[in-house]
Amino acid sequence: MLSSMLDESQLQQLRSALQSERARLLRNAQSSLGLSMNRDLDVGRDSIDESTQESMLSTELRLRDREKWLLGKIDGALERLEAGTIDSCEDCAEPIDYRRLLARPVTTLCIDCKVEREREEMALESSGARGIGGEIVDDHLPEVAPSDE
Ligand SMILES: [Zn+2]
Repeated sequence: MLSSMLDESQLQQLRSALQSERARLLRNAQSSLGLSMNRDLDVGRDSIDESTQESMLSTELRLRDREKWLLGKIDGALERLEAGTIDSCEDCAEPIDYRRLLARPVTTLCIDCKVEREREEMALESSGARGIGGEIVDDHLPEVAPSDE
């Protein structure tokens, strides 16, 4: 039976960090939808050709995918928090440093395992084998919505 090494006030701090991040994402999702509706009105339907419309739509869908994915990570972290496993590394089961958790509450890896995975990813990338094996590890919460890549 795993139990958290964190005390109640630390857990509370993580919980509120996760909840405010969650609220921020939901607000972003709403305002990006609102923005694109305004853009429609400004430009006027007649001047938007089909390909423009299509690319605007796919940008939005991608944005929502990204937000959905981040929301999933946040919900997972909240579940781990309630289960008392949020500070337990999913690779080595060692406790994750509290300061690291506070900076990135959605992380599931201790710093050692994170560094290790990044090294593996870099090796994969340089050998051109990226995307064949594992999942891309990315526990960074972006400060702003991702730009159109
Ligand atoms: Zn670890």
